Amino acid sequence: MRLVIIGAGPGGYETAVEAAKAGLEVTIISDGPVGGTCLNEGCIPTKTLCHSAELIEAAKSAAQYGVQVNFEGLDLSKALSRKDEVVGQLRSGVEFLLKGKGISLVYGKASFKDAHTVVVDSQEIEADYVIIATGSSSACLPIPGKEYTVTSTQMLSPESVPQRLCIIGAGVIGLEFASIYNSFGSEVTVLEFCKEILPRFDVDLAKRLKQSLSKKGISIETSACVQSVSKTGSGYEVTYLKKEKESVVEADMVLMAVGRRPNVSSVNLDDIGVEYTPKGIKVGSDMRTSVPHIFAIGDVTGGIMLAHAATFQGKVALDAILAEAGLPCEARHIDLSIIPAAVFTSPEAAMVGLTEEDCEAGGLAVRCLKSRYQSNGKAVSMGQTDGFCKMIISQEDGRILGCHIFGAHSADLVQELSALMAMGATLEDFRGMVHAHPTLSEVLQSIS
Ligand code: NAD
Repeated sequence: MRLVIIGAGPGGYETAVEAAKAGLEVTIISDGPVGGTCLNEGCIPTKTLCHSAELIEAAKSAAQYGVQVNFEGLDLSKALSRKDEVVGQLRSGVEFLLKGKGISLVYGKASFKDAHTVVVDSQEIEADYVIIATGSSSACLPIPGKEYTVTSTQMLSPESVPQRLCIIGAGVIGLEFASIYNSFGSEVTVLEFCKEILPRFDVDLAKRLKQSLSKKGISIETSACVQSVSKTGSGYEVTYLKKEKESVVEADMVLMAVGRRPNVSSVNLDDIGVEYTPKGIKVGSDMRTSVPHIFAIGDVTGGIMLAHAATFQGKVALDAILAEAGLPCEARHIDLSIIPAAVFTSPEAAMVGLTEEDCEAGGLAVRCLKSRYQSNGKAVSMGQTDGFCKMIISQEDGRILGCHIFGAHSADLVQELSALMAMGATLEDFRGMVHAHPTLSEVLQSIS
């Protein structure tokens, strides 16, 4: 059974490895370095710079904890070369993994010749099944002067730290870079079109994150509609409208972070009848496209654009292929409706499940239980008391429907609730679970 996977991001390469383990003959095609956006220009390099930023903050505040540090500032080239080393190390790991499993890795741009043949340069590869995992690309507002803006990829390798940085979009990418560059010493202004930052997150959480970032000196303008970017003698001017009043932000660098668009037009889908829109390839619950032996996973489907969502969608697609081919397949149920998400600002924010606003909109009767970091012993010891947790509980049957955490290590903490929700746990089940002391997880336990 021959499986061709187009795209070697976390969706593509992890599925390739699982498919090879299951006995399929796998070819994976990558038009760039393996690891995709996540490893090469997304999650991993960003988190590496986040860590440099955290160390700056720790060094600056060390004296409060009785530790004397002579902080002499950021060595940008060292921070960037470490980031490149981390990416390089993980990339070699992926290549090694693919090779070790006997997967054929082909570099180049893939395109469908027909529904069972994929072409890369002059090489034709026959497939019984195909998984499209071609990812997404940065979106750009169609405004005058858009050519003066940079993408998140360029923010990962700047020549210098801009003195003034303007970020268009207070989504995940915008806020992570706002936090990093604030620690690196830039004067940061974020312009957001919606009336709250992180539009898809719980409003309480978004408000607290905004307050916390503002306290750190990041200026955030919400309900701001960016009109244009223009070049001046010393940098750029970003013009925006807020309550019909025009204002200008002066900056040395302007980041466009207004979302990502699925890469639907690169593989010749029209000729093979795979249905798609500019919002993504249409798939069913088993990630199958309109052509039965072709599946699509990850950002290209336009759903939740997260690396781990792509990976688990890949598992769902592979299970469907194995079942159809009559091959042995691990019995597992993957619930794609419960996908945790995190924003690696300082402090972090994380969520899983429904927000209070989702429940209101869906007419679900819920109660919201809350707790704060400031009364948690571990948080006080760490000096990280800025944080809160909100749990959404169904009035009808007590099930946990969502959890929203803002504060230190929230990206790790939310996983506990994610696991419980996947098992359909109720508040009562959660209340019966012992949490170790002293840990940040007691923030969850103390909700009331
Ligand atoms: P996003 O959708 O999270 O945020 C884009 C923001 O831009 C929104 O807040 C939107 O309201 C705003 N915006 C849109 N038009 C605007 C305008 N005209 N003026 C001002 N603001 C405007 O997108 P993103 O931050 O670019 O991230 C892209 C994808 O990558 C997301 O799906 C995100 O989840 C994913 N990602 C995830 C992580 C993570 O898991 N930590 C990190 C980075 C990116």
